[in-house]
Amino acid sequence: MELMNMGSEAGAGPLSGGRGCTVGGEEITSLVDRNLCDWMRSIRRALHRYPELAGREERTAALIAGELARLGIDCRTGLGGGTGIRAELGNPGPCIALRADMDALPIRELTGLDFASTREGIMHACGHDGHVAMLLGAAALLGRTGLPGRVVLLFQPAEEAGNGAARMIRDRVLDGVDMIFSGHIDTHHPVGFLVVDDGLICSYTDPFTIHIHGRGGHAARPHEAVDSVVVAANLVMNMQTLVSRQIDPSHAAVVTVGRIEAGTVHNAIAENAVLEGTVRSAHQDTRESILSGLRRVIHGASDMCNAEITLEFFDGLPAVINDPDATAIARRAAVAVVGPDQVISQGQPSLGGEDFAFYQQRVPGCMIRFGGQVTGGRKAGPAHSSRFDFSEDVLGYGAAWLATVARLALQRLAAAS
Ligand SMILES: [Zn+2]
Ligand SMILES: [Zn+2]
Repeated sequence: MELMNMGSEAGAGPLSGGRGCTVGGEEITSLVDRNLCDWMRSIRRALHRYPELAGREERTAALIAGELARLGIDCRTGLGGGTGIRAELGNPGPCIALRADMDALPIRELTGLDFASTREGIMHACGHDGHVAMLLGAAALLGRTGLPGRVVLLFQPAEEAGNGAARMIRDRVLDGVDMIFSGHIDTHHPVGFLVVDDGLICSYTDPFTIHIHGRGGHAARPHEAVDSVVVAANLVMNMQTLVSRQIDPSHAAVVTVGRIEAGTVHNAIAENAVLEGTVRSAHQDTRESILSGLRRVIHGASDMCNAEITLEFFDGLPAVINDPDATAIARRAAVAVVGPDQVISQGQPSLGGEDFAFYQQRVPGCMIRFGGQVTGGRKAGPAHSSRFDFSEDVLGYGAAWLATVARLALQRLAAAS
């Protein structure tokens, strides 16, 4: 059995050493052949060339539905706000779901890849093109084996907007589902490594907007005005002390202001300013401390500067908390695919957010990470950057893990019922 290396960066396929994934007498990994990998790569590249923003994944959805039809798998389209897809395969019995996200980001691609985005200002900079290819790959693998239950495939829009999962759930995609799994490409780790952790793996996210209302005036006469730019600068610096001075240093947290807007011209004092940012925290008590601290900082700045300041929180994401039973199955599947030495821990929770958390509030679930570092001397930027890329060799591992975890979970659930 051999998992084919797909890219020119050979040597990134530790699974090809011969470890198999014996699941119910079948070796799913052995089914990951060059044809499957080439097919997944072509899907990934087609999606990469034509990225679509959250909630507008029309062509992406059409491509997925077309490939599912070719695989003989029925699906429901038009879900989760219009572009989500729920497909189902297998036999009566317990039911597990596998989820892939589909959307791209408003980022201008600068990778220089020959399959780079053809859409100005839009880019698959988080690997969701790979996730779709992997889930289709898993569907193809599962279709070739007998299943002791049903597998639901969820192609979810708008992960980056944070509302795709909730919309899919509203459209009842989890009806009858006993357990759910997903994975995310992670270029911090080499291909062939799978990152599996119990408990909290992705943080709470709390996006916020701050409106500062000062009083405009002449640049030369600040005493007649209330300078919103100075208030904003004050706020940004004071917010940084929340994490550094008010939170237990062993608890991960971040306050980032990602956008500031104020003023119109160099010689006038800005009347208004807007700050947009996000709070990330890995513990519920840390989260509450930061949110209340933010209110105090704003109160203080308002008093000190005589400005009117309002703080608005938007619906963020709950933390991704991996269920112990689902994680045990996820780990077994990972060991089956890459061997015990290449199943690793991320060490500490990521401060990234993931709307997979919404599914986990309904059914036990586990999300893992697929090592996807580019090799061969090629350089790539981090996720959410213009130069992001991953090694396409990860596609085979992702598909193998998804198919394996589905089978193992169904076997486990069928045995328990
Ligand atoms: Zn992302
Ligand atoms: Zn992502």
